[in-house]
Amino acid sequence: MPEILDEIINTWQASFEAKPFIPVIENAGSVSEVGDGVALVRGLSDAFISEVLSFEGGIEGFVLSLAPDYVGVVLLGEDKYVREGDRVSRTGRLLSIPYTQNLIGRVIDPLGNPIDGKPAPKSIKFLPLETKAPSVIEREPVHQPMQTGIKTIDALFPIGRGQRELIIGDRQTGKTAIAIDTILNQKDENVICIYVGIAQKSSTMAGIVKTLRDYGALDYTLVVTTLADQSPATRYIAPYVGCAIGEELMRSGKHVLIIYDDLSKHADAYRELALLLRRPPGREAYPGDIFYLHSRLLERAAKLHKDLGGGSMTALPIIETQAGDVSQYIPTNLISITDGQIYLEKELFHEGIRPAVNVGLSVSRVGGNAQIPTMKKVGGSLKLDLSQYNDLKAFAQFGAELDPVTQKKLQRGEKLVELLKQPQYSPMHVGQQVFILGAYSLGALDDIRKDRVQEFERILVEEAKRFRPDLLKELSMAPKLTDAHKEGISKLVQSVSSTFGS
Ligand code: ATP
Ligand code: MG
Repeated sequence: MPEILDEIINTWQASFEAKPFIPVIENAGSVSEVGDGVALVRGLSDAFISEVLSFEGGIEGFVLSLAPDYVGVVLLGEDKYVREGDRVSRTGRLLSIPYTQNLIGRVIDPLGNPIDGKPAPKSIKFLPLETKAPSVIEREPVHQPMQTGIKTIDALFPIGRGQRELIIGDRQTGKTAIAIDTILNQKDENVICIYVGIAQKSSTMAGIVKTLRDYGALDYTLVVTTLADQSPATRYIAPYVGCAIGEELMRSGKHVLIIYDDLSKHADAYRELALLLRRPPGREAYPGDIFYLHSRLLERAAKLHKDLGGGSMTALPIIETQAGDVSQYIPTNLISITDGQIYLEKELFHEGIRPAVNVGLSVSRVGGNAQIPTMKKVGGSLKLDLSQYNDLKAFAQFGAELDPVTQKKLQRGEKLVELLKQPQYSPMHVGQQVFILGAYSLGALDDIRKDRVQEFERILVEEAKRFRPDLLKELSMAPKLTDAHKEGISKLVQSVSSTFGS
């Protein structure tokens, strides 16, 4: 009996929550113009931004712009069902997405429709797409690591839970690859991942979903996707849908990682809608509030205070640059909104340095506090080694005679670059990363030929996994790097070196 009662109460609550706002004032308007997925409506002077309006033909739309004598509405259905002169009424509802916990593991479009061939998830409540970001009092400083499994990033540009780190680079430089590897690395980390694909090719999207499924990552991932040929309305709302769901999970105490791939296309969708709605174009024809659009979205990523459950939402927005130019409008906006950027460079990518992270131009502003202490110790000098190497490399290209000390630095740098290369789909556990970079800083690679560094690394990791799994585990958790750890690393290096040759 109590179960039936529970069910009734649940249904009653769901129906209540499904309508977060009580319908307001009868305020009838009419369509004055319609086309290209948008409509201009007169007579609804009280309507507010993001409010859902209902059209006579049965479809709905949401308010995107308010002008003195009309409101600009983006239609959430085909515009052939709307005609000039149709009646339009307000609903008083904010644009919302149906939500249920069973969304994890699914592939949906921004309106909540499944596109993985499985039945539609049964929603239990509606989430407004736009909400206020958590306030300062609700937050806590970022202090837990979000391991990407990518050596270059975890060692040099560590990311913390609740941080917003931009991935920026030209076309085909491995931006998506970094995001997907980071998702794969969350397998046993108790993190829920949300991948928002904005205006992707359907083949790319299918590839991403397949990869996630093949590596068992779809079990803890939600994919929200819009394709390049879909309406600008769905492309525009996609990131908010992912964000609203992530926020709900964060507020229930979970850790969430959200990827926006990519926000350049989101900005383009917004520009398209704004121009159709006759908003005045600003710089590069984007509407004037484009900065606010993205800062509002990314501000919602947070590390919540422990009194609020201590959940977090880490955001990895992606931005595409043209010819490596980071000073364009949208890239500079995002660089200034986020807590750092991973800058990927085409030249490095083509030289075979993958992930193609430009160490000089990348930065992580808050993640240092979240880096595990052992990694901090072994990774501390790497940035300096790399920048010295890059300087010397340019110098050595002139054929200058180099003294032995400089030559040694150059060789060490070359080997470090080799060591930091990492193939796709092979995120590395942080204990192994500390082990490998610790071995490097103890001089393990000094007698190894450059072209054999990766082979040496592979054998070293295999041996460590076989003989000292305890050491690997300890390196990922210990409060500091002790002499015993260093000795353990050295011993393994010696035993591998003795059979490896050079
Ligand atoms: P787009 O601009 O088209 O979105 P992107 O910057 O997201 O491209 P990816 O699609 O991630 O780039 O990668 C481009 C190509 O490089 C892919 O074929 C991918 O397999 C390859 N690639 C990416 N990272 C690596 C890596 N670490 N090692 C080897 N190949 C890689
Ligand atoms: Mg991509």
